[in-house]
Amino acid sequence: FSVIGFNWLCSPACTELEVIVMDWLAKFLKLPEHFLHSTKGPGGGIIQGSASEAVLVAVMAAREQTVRRVKAKQPDLSEGEIRARLIGYSSDQSNSCIEKAGVLATLPIRLLPADDNQIMGGAQLVKAVKEDLAKGLIPTICIATMGATGTCAYDDIATLASVCEEHNIWLHVDAAYAGAVLSLDEYAYLRCGLERVDSLNYNLHKTLLVNFDCTAMWLRDANQVVDSFNVNRIYLQNKYNGQTDIPEFRHWQIPLGRRFRALKVWVTFRIYGAEGLREHVRKQIRLAERFERHILSDARLELVAKRSMGLVCFRVKGDNQLTTDLLQCVTERKKIYMVQAAFGGKNFMRFAVCGMDPKEDDIDFAWREIEEQLNKLLKEEKRGNVGT
Ligand SMILES: *Cc1c(COP(=O)(O)O)cnc(C)c1O
Repeated sequence: FSVIGFNWLCSPACTELEVIVMDWLAKFLKLPEHFLHSTKGPGGGIIQGSASEAVLVAVMAAREQTVRRVKAKQPDLSEGEIRARLIGYSSDQSNSCIEKAGVLATLPIRLLPADDNQIMGGAQLVKAVKEDLAKGLIPTICIATMGATGTCAYDDIATLASVCEEHNIWLHVDAAYAGAVLSLDEYAYLRCGLERVDSLNYNLHKTLLVNFDCTAMWLRDANQVVDSFNVNRIYLQNKYNGQTDIPEFRHWQIPLGRRFRALKVWVTFRIYGAEGLREHVRKQIRLAERFERHILSDARLELVAKRSMGLVCFRVKGDNQLTTDLLQCVTERKKIYMVQAAFGGKNFMRFAVCGMDPKEDDIDFAWREIEEQLNKLLKEEKRGNVGT
């Protein structure tokens, strides 16, 4: 308890446990070795408060590193001139926090149109980079998504990495929701290219049974962040400064103080074990497949994208208004909760499996609720049409 009570001091014991659990997690997700603290080299992981924070840290570090690199090459340019030319990239399917990070960091993020499968790849990026270079802009960071918010699509990390390497662009991967699938061998193909990214985030509080909030972030070279953010004061100095292998996480994040979030990760791993956690991820997928079968069994509905992780995206065939109305009916009854998204001119509903212990019965309950409301809606629709 004394350790918990003093956690705001970021005692070495709290930091040490965080180093341990971040390496457990990296191994659990089979991330590249250079993300481990225990690997010799400048890489490692840290727990941040949210994906938004992790993305902002990556954007700001990329910004500072780029400013310094360009300044060294072209000393006649002022820092202000360099900053005004920086530009970042992400897909138009990425989470709103990416655009927000650009606003907060005063580094505009161009949202590139995803392809028909909702994916952004090297082809789109290289085109945008060339356009911007011709305008005298400086490509700085690309934020790819594993499991985009709309349909849980996976950007093509490998081809993006090739473009980023060629143009000295920081590559960050936002895997806030779907990162958990990296723990499963059947999804090994999604790891393709991950060994080439600079940083990655995953929210344990979304799909891995850790309570809110807990965002894991890994850096290939943490020195790039520390070097960008490090400001020291005499009251921050202690005998450990720079003398041990324990990272000084305050230089890896926005706040000074930190919570002892490593403890709940440690407890979760100790309770469930790696296999128990993998089973939890597989269960979310199985239940989503069950829901997907319900949708496919009803000719009035269609899938907008293939089920991905625990997310099923579907709509009522025909006019967008039907889908919007159905969602409104379901929401008003307050039995289940979903949100809407749109792609390619089509509105759709997103059914996401979540919770501590979701069961088949819960899925069937949700399905019956949707089916009932759909029956009612279409009946009223018919009556309405007769009337006009
Ligand atoms: C949920 C989510 C976010 C936002 O996460 P916060 O931790 O609330 O900032 C960002 N990106 C993706 C892909 C998400 O699924």
